[in-house]
Amino acid sequence: MTTYEKSVPGRRGFISEQSDVPVVSLASIMGEENLRKTPAALPELAETDVVRHYTALAKQNFGVDTGFYPLGSCTMKYNPKINEALAALPGFLGAHPLAPDGMNRGCLRLLAELEEMLCEVCGMEAFTLQPAAGAHGELTGLMCIAAYFEKTGQTGRKVILIPDSAHGTNPASAAQAGFTVRSVPSGSDGLVDPDALRVAAEAAGESLAGLMLTNPNTLGLFERHIVEIAEIIHGAGGLLYYDGANLNAVMGITTPGAMGFDVVHLNLHKTFSTPHGGGGPGAGPVGANKVLAPFLPGKGEDSIGRVRAYYGSFGVLVKAYCYIRTLGGSGLREASETAVLNANWLLKKLRGAYDAPHGEWCMHEFVLSCAKLKAETGVSAMDVAKGLIDKGFHPPTVYFPTIVPESMMIEPTETEAPETLEAFASAMLALYEDAHVNPETLHNAPVTTPVGRLDATAAARNPVIKR
Ligand SMILES: *Cc1c(COP(=O)(O)O)cnc(C)c1O
Repeated sequence: MTTYEKSVPGRRGFISEQSDVPVVSLASIMGEENLRKTPAALPELAETDVVRHYTALAKQNFGVDTGFYPLGSCTMKYNPKINEALAALPGFLGAHPLAPDGMNRGCLRLLAELEEMLCEVCGMEAFTLQPAAGAHGELTGLMCIAAYFEKTGQTGRKVILIPDSAHGTNPASAAQAGFTVRSVPSGSDGLVDPDALRVAAEAAGESLAGLMLTNPNTLGLFERHIVEIAEIIHGAGGLLYYDGANLNAVMGITTPGAMGFDVVHLNLHKTFSTPHGGGGPGAGPVGANKVLAPFLPGKGEDSIGRVRAYYGSFGVLVKAYCYIRTLGGSGLREASETAVLNANWLLKKLRGAYDAPHGEWCMHEFVLSCAKLKAETGVSAMDVAKGLIDKGFHPPTVYFPTIVPESMMIEPTETEAPETLEAFASAMLALYEDAHVNPETLHNAPVTTPVGRLDATAAARNPVIKR
């Protein structure tokens, strides 16, 4: 029921003391004709009704603060609450981008220092903090690449190569930035095959603009041939774009710069202490090396221009700053090492039951396939995912990456304790047993939630969000 349906005429939540401020008639300020004739039909509820209404709604929700959330590619890790508190300090919260010169010095210094720190983490020359999300960062970085080719008179360079394992935003952003997308098939080991890449680069010839790649890739595998890949692309006159959404696996261990990338975006709302999901706000800062730095927003004459109002998502930037300052270089490295360790521990536990098509080791996430399970029992990756909900876990990402049939993409993150990983592994193995013994229960899951299995397409297109 909505608060409107729960409304009882005359019920009050709060009755204030008689005010001693003299009454001024609204009509005398606004004019009688501008006043509404009947009162607004607002819900009338007691304070207890309101508190219980919203608490009941909140209890139906699931987040990293309620439980394990191994949604691959999304890095749903626990974010320290102290960073929220710091971003909410009055000096940050109340700052206005149009305040007179001199009043925002501290905020500007924080932004400048954050740019420097991100340069170090990524091995880049300069950073813009403007972009509001990962996809927005991709668009910004690709626009810099386009501006570079424009400036150097290579306007024919229009083809961007993207591996078939890439996140869907990559081809979308490239198309949006005016490039033509060509897909590069992954090898059977899940990695970009340098020989296939060489063929694709040669086929593109003078029209090659570059390659978009995330490393580790969306299968959770480190692209071991990255140095050779960079040589192939640079040798053919192209540039390399690093999708930094998986930076959680390599912070403090290596940098996109060392791998040979020219431009990179980060998802501060994955790796750097801002909760991810619910529609934002996020931040997707973009870093560039010497070649592309002059084209970044706000970085001089060749700049592509502003991509967002003012300084970007300031609160998110404050949280990233605090996170990096708190952990330091060695702490960032430890976070990545722990993320990789947790993923490998889980992979080893689950590999016997579920198929792991890409080998024994992974970086911060891994992909399982339920194809064999489905052939044997009729239970799909979707059924296992829904079964996990009944066991108290958020499901992993399913059916992505699309190059693995019946895929489940699991990212435990560094913030989970061994007990949680153990409990999740037990749940996954119990579901594997259920699939063989009693598959019907999994087809019907979840049964412990306010609503059962939804028509996912209809739920996305026509969401009923009022009750
Ligand atoms: C999340 C993600 C993106 C897109 O980031 P948004 O902030 O959601 O726009 C791009 N690439 C990869 C690999 C991702 O995981």
